[in-house]
Amino acid sequence: MNSAIILSVIGGLIWGSFLNVLLWRLPEEKSIGGRSHCRDCHHLLAWYDLIPVLSFIVLKGRCRYCHTPIHIRYPVVEISTATVLALFFAVRQPLLGLEVVMTVFALLILTSLFFFDLFYLVLPDVLIFPAIIVYAIYDLIKAVNPFSYFLTALLSAGLFAILYTVSRGKKMGFGDVKLAILIGLILGYPFGFLAIVGGVWLAAIVSIILLALKKAALQDAIPLGSFLALATILSIIFYHEILPLAKFFQ
Ligand SMILES: [Zn+2]
Repeated sequence: MNSAIILSVIGGLIWGSFLNVLLWRLPEEKSIGGRSHCRDCHHLLAWYDLIPVLSFIVLKGRCRYCHTPIHIRYPVVEISTATVLALFFAVRQPLLGLEVVMTVFALLILTSLFFFDLFYLVLPDVLIFPAIIVYAIYDLIKAVNPFSYFLTALLSAGLFAILYTVSRGKKMGFGDVKLAILIGLILGYPFGFLAIVGGVWLAAIVSIILLALKKAALQDAIPLGSFLALATILSIIFYHEILPLAKFFQ
């Protein structure tokens, strides 16, 4: 294992741990500052109770003070975030530079959006809007043709806005329209389109499987944003593997 992968695992665990705080406090509109405490006994947690994954294992998944089980979501979010970053560095083996910093930023935002939509069916503006602004500026600086990024963003978002209006927001939320803008700005053409089409297909296939297994009903909402974010994450990590397919659209 090289040092980039080890660092990405540590960085992923740290962001995952911060993301857990956001995931509990943003939907409850609580301040994200302040010390962490147990959600059951409200005992303040010490630094050694808050080490990602490790504390969960040492404490055998229970609060040190009241022994209530700690939600499995904590280690799942931390391990997933670390896995996304480690996979990126292992598969792409990028050379450090601005592009890598921007890609890591995109992966962290997309992983966060994945979990927000999965758990709450929301894609928070506090995550999407700053990412849209940062990527729009980055596209202007780096891209030979920034307008291919802007056009991809505009056309994808336009398509989703039509679907949103036609379905009266039942099958997708307006957050998905904003997410489509972000995906277009991150990936441009044709990868942006491929990720969005891939995400919609993924959502459809998983929905059909859940319906067949009677784990979901037709009127249930699906976290479309999670599937779009996942497809975008996979497009970034497996860029070179998808490239032959992408060339077909150029
Ligand atoms: Zn407790």
